[in-house]
Amino acid sequence: MSKFIFVTGGVVSGLGKGITAASLGRLLKCRGLKVTSQKLDPYMNVDPGTMSPFQHGEVFVTDDGAETDLDLGHYERFIDENLTKYSNMTSGRVYWNVLNKERQGEYLGQTVQIIPHVTNEIKDFVMKNAEVSNADVSIVEVGGTIGDIESQPFLEAIRQLALEVGRRNCLFIHVCLVPYISGSDEYKSKPTQHSVKELMAVGIHPDIIVARCDKEIPTDIRKKISLFCNVGEDCVINNTTCRSLYEVPLMLHAQNMDDVVCRDLGLETGADYPMLADWSRMVETIHARQGEIQIALVGKYVKLHDSYLSIVESLNHASFVVGKNVKINWVDSDSVTDETAPEVFKDCAGIILPGGFGHRGVEGMVCSCRYARTHKLPYFGICLGMQIAVIEFARSILGYSDANSREFDELCEHPVIDLMKNQEGVIKGGTMRLGSYPCEVTPGTILEKAYGSTHIDERHRHRYEFNNDYRTQMQEAGLTISGTSPDGTLVEAVEVADQFHVGVQFHPEFKSRPNNAGPLFVEFLKACDK
Ligand code: GLN
Repeated sequence: MSKFIFVTGGVVSGLGKGITAASLGRLLKCRGLKVTSQKLDPYMNVDPGTMSPFQHGEVFVTDDGAETDLDLGHYERFIDENLTKYSNMTSGRVYWNVLNKERQGEYLGQTVQIIPHVTNEIKDFVMKNAEVSNADVSIVEVGGTIGDIESQPFLEAIRQLALEVGRRNCLFIHVCLVPYISGSDEYKSKPTQHSVKELMAVGIHPDIIVARCDKEIPTDIRKKISLFCNVGEDCVINNTTCRSLYEVPLMLHAQNMDDVVCRDLGLETGADYPMLADWSRMVETIHARQGEIQIALVGKYVKLHDSYLSIVESLNHASFVVGKNVKINWVDSDSVTDETAPEVFKDCAGIILPGGFGHRGVEGMVCSCRYARTHKLPYFGICLGMQIAVIEFARSILGYSDANSREFDELCEHPVIDLMKNQEGVIKGGTMRLGSYPCEVTPGTILEKAYGSTHIDERHRHRYEFNNDYRTQMQEAGLTISGTSPDGTLVEAVEVADQFHVGVQFHPEFKSRPNNAGPLFVEFLKACDK
């Protein structure tokens, strides 16, 4: 049976609970344990798929096509396990399931209540993830901050679960902010004390407190937290701001956090951890990078960098391979025209154009793509970025000045990106091509060079496709189709000869890992570094 680690957050949001949970997962994996993780999100959306990136940041997609919270990306990158649709549950999904069961008469006429029906639904979901993943340890993060009305059913559910599986089989970790007041040079433990009090009011006593602070908090403050919050001194762990996210597991390990967790959960593991040495070496590589490559990231959600989290991380992973730092120039696509492009991109070694939805900003993206192609500046288009490359090619090379995607211009004469015949009439949430699909790679292309294979699998999240009515024309005019679905019907990737001008319909950023960088990101960065 799996053991459970529940991670909650206190004082404020945005403390890096997800990074803490993911880092602990990495440490436990390094000790030879099979680890899975899960995020419980208290908001009412059924999933984050229809939420604006400005609200929620990126939507992370799993192999099996679930649209999930961006923290799952951290879990996958740190723990290096592919998660599933059982890894993320929102309040909306819980109520959706409960109400469907009620309509189908599954509750046999009972009054349907938060306790037990809603809490049972949550508990079943937590147990299900542990079961399907066959994990020794399930790390379950509860989104939001203690005290939020929304998270109460989740906290009640994990309290009940602890009772059911027994205290020896579960552990509560509470991540809190310890503010530093520079005027008086003081670290304050009171917010943590209040937050723990709030947690205890719902029947949860934390076993470990992770104290988040920009700097290391002094021992006397840690002792104070230990005393007032009733946890062992070795159970108050510093979580300071590191130079790289990937250093966090090492910081936690240096404070014996994984020892404490294994001790408290009664987990016996081997004595040496070669995987941890590998991770340390990777962190050394990260710190050893020298020089800088400037990349323009052109998009419409650039005001919130989290909207492109996996892209940014993938560029970082590639930079560990190339040995140089990546500096991202965030470019709002609305600001790019043929006239402004030379100024906007003057310091950039390459342009990356990630996914997106809706027509705002599209014309600026086309101008960015045209500037890249005509100036032989490396261009890497992902999902919408590939569609833009196709639109730009059709406009500039085929001369179809109105070429567009049906998404942006329903009536255009040349919809080079369109819905497939069997998709017509489909416009709402939950109707996209989602999750992992195979792609056959054309030999001799950049795609093949990057992956070193003619068969790849990558994750998708889109609705529109390359319009095959234009395929022959485009190919004759010099566009290479570098990848298709195995039956050849869907175009998965395009390239322009003699330069790095690559568009892919899939999202390679979802499978890139710090110790196994996405091959196209590496190839792109190498092209930028020339
Ligand atoms: N909006 C485009 C589509 O639905 C691209 C989606 C994306 O970039 N993720 O096909």
